[in-house]
Amino acid sequence: MSIAADKVVSIEYTLTDDDGEVLDTSVGDEPLVYLHGAENIVEGLEKALDGKNVGDRIEVVVEPEEGYGDYLTELVSTVDRDAFEDADQLEVGMEFHAEAPDGESQIVTVRAVDGNEVTIDANHPLAGVRLHFDVKVIDIRDASEDELAHGHPHGEDDDH
Ligand code: ZN
Repeated sequence: MSIAADKVVSIEYTLTDDDGEVLDTSVGDEPLVYLHGAENIVEGLEKALDGKNVGDRIEVVVEPEEGYGDYLTELVSTVDRDAFEDADQLEVGMEFHAEAPDGESQIVTVRAVDGNEVTIDANHPLAGVRLHFDVKVIDIRDASEDELAHGHPHGEDDDH
C-alpha cells in the first residue's frame, strides 16, 4: 500500500529550520498520525509523502508558501491590556488561542507589553520559516468512513 488520498498515515518526523535547530520532533514519542489529502499537515510535506511506502525515508524542504505561510506584518497589531482576561500576567512570548475573523482558532503571540498597550502577532509561530522535514513512514492503512467524514484519523478508543 502506498500513500494516497484517504489513507491514514503514521510518520516519524523531525522538523528543523535553516540553521539545523530542531523545532519539533516525534522521535522518542508516538508517531504523528494524519489523514492524507485532508490538509492535516502542511501542504509541502503532504505532497512529498504522496506515493511513498512503509519504511521510506524522505528529507524535504518546504518553503513558507507550502508551509505555514509568509510572515505578514499586517497581522501584528496593538490592543488594550484590558482586552485580556489575565491582564496582570501578560508576558512577552506568551502564546494563546484566539478566534480568527473566519472563526478558525489561531495562535496569537504577545510581542511587546508597554503600559496599557499590548502588541500581539497573529502570524503562525512558524510563518516565514523554511521547514526542513526528515520523515520516516511507519504505517499506512485505509481510513474508516468515520475518519473520512471527520477529516482526521481516530485513535483506538476514540469514537466521538
Ligand atoms: Zn473525528
